[in-house]
Amino acid sequence: MTVPSSTTFWFILPCRFTKTNPLQPAETNAADGSLVVECQQLTRRFGQFEALAGVSLNIRRGEFFSLLGPSGCGKTTLLRIIAGLDLPDTGELRIGGLPALHLPAWKRPVNTVFQNYALFPHLSVSENIAFGLRMKRLPSADIVRRTTSVMELTQILPLAGRHPHELSGGQKQRVALARALVNEPAVLLLDEPMGALDAKLRKELQLELRQLQRRLGITFVHVTHDQDEALAMSDRVAVMNAGRIVQLGTPDELYDRPKTSFVAEFIGVCNLFEGNLIRRTKQLLETETPLGRLRIELPATTIELSERSRLRLGVRPERIAMDGGQPGDNRLLGIVQSISSSGPETIAQVRVGDTLLRVTELNMGRRSVALHAGDSVELTISPGNFFLLED
Ligand code: ATP
Repeated sequence: MTVPSSTTFWFILPCRFTKTNPLQPAETNAADGSLVVECQQLTRRFGQFEALAGVSLNIRRGEFFSLLGPSGCGKTTLLRIIAGLDLPDTGELRIGGLPALHLPAWKRPVNTVFQNYALFPHLSVSENIAFGLRMKRLPSADIVRRTTSVMELTQILPLAGRHPHELSGGQKQRVALARALVNEPAVLLLDEPMGALDAKLRKELQLELRQLQRRLGITFVHVTHDQDEALAMSDRVAVMNAGRIVQLGTPDELYDRPKTSFVAEFIGVCNLFEGNLIRRTKQLLETETPLGRLRIELPATTIELSERSRLRLGVRPERIAMDGGQPGDNRLLGIVQSISSSGPETIAQVRVGDTLLRVTELNMGRRSVALHAGDSVELTISPGNFFLLED
């Protein structure tokens, strides 16, 4: 099969119709647990370069799933294989429980929204949306009904007669989304759909897209390199690096329990340091670290924890308190090196021994005495706020 090599297309990917109408609100918004996309050991090489190095993952019906990772990690390659726009060298793909690799893109129950929208410039908004249905020779009345319904859903009905050059970036994004949704796909694939929009519009559309997905109950598979976007929108996220999935979990799992320093640093900001295990009790690890002795809640981990084990530890800046803490917290004495305010939060660099910790605190107007560079400060960290890394 000849497949296009870039994501710049001037065509629409039609798909099979499902018996139910996904454009009607779903009865339940939660993923039902059954699998809609199953990837097993997918590999893809471009010459000597391995873009996918054995990717296995399952996507549940009705979930908002994101593929997150730095540029070049293989996200789009994986999405294109699911879409039927590229083939893996080895591995298996099932969609809706059936083998899918032998199916051309147009026979798969998926639709794709590309970053550049790929709208037909010579067609109006409603003609762009109706195009796929016309190709399938649906009755005119059905085409009008479905096109109108999806334009209402995506709030672009007033733009029906305009052409793409008369639309803003956000409006084009909605038209591209409507054009994909009108085909009633079981799975909607979104390749950086908000990449071309400004930060404020992105935030607004993130919320809308998430609400739309919940209402329709369609499985969304979303590619992004923006960790905030992935965490804000997704039920689950697969973090990718160098052609592999390095961790897959809910946004909370990834943020609170990253398994590697790559994930810890890619998702949010964190303080990383090393330590030695001194003693292990039923609930706690006692460790010697450059910050002093720390008590750490025993995490669920596959890491072997024997005495004197070298540990790699992390703590998020907002999980370190500068205002007293709770009984049982670890207490560290530090000197404020710098302090600044971003508006909603105060960001401090605090030196503890030779280690510089980043600490953030929400500006709740509670602090009676302002902190300045050079001040001594007592930091408190709950034993449950550390995470243990596997690398
Ligand atoms: P981005 O966020 O920048 O879009 P990505 O994670 O989606 O990145 P891919 O587009 O999947 O990355 O590309 C993965 C790697 O495979 C990159 O190094 C890319 O240069 C390479 N690659 C992708 N398509 C081809 C191709 N047709 N020929 C050669 N190399 C390719």
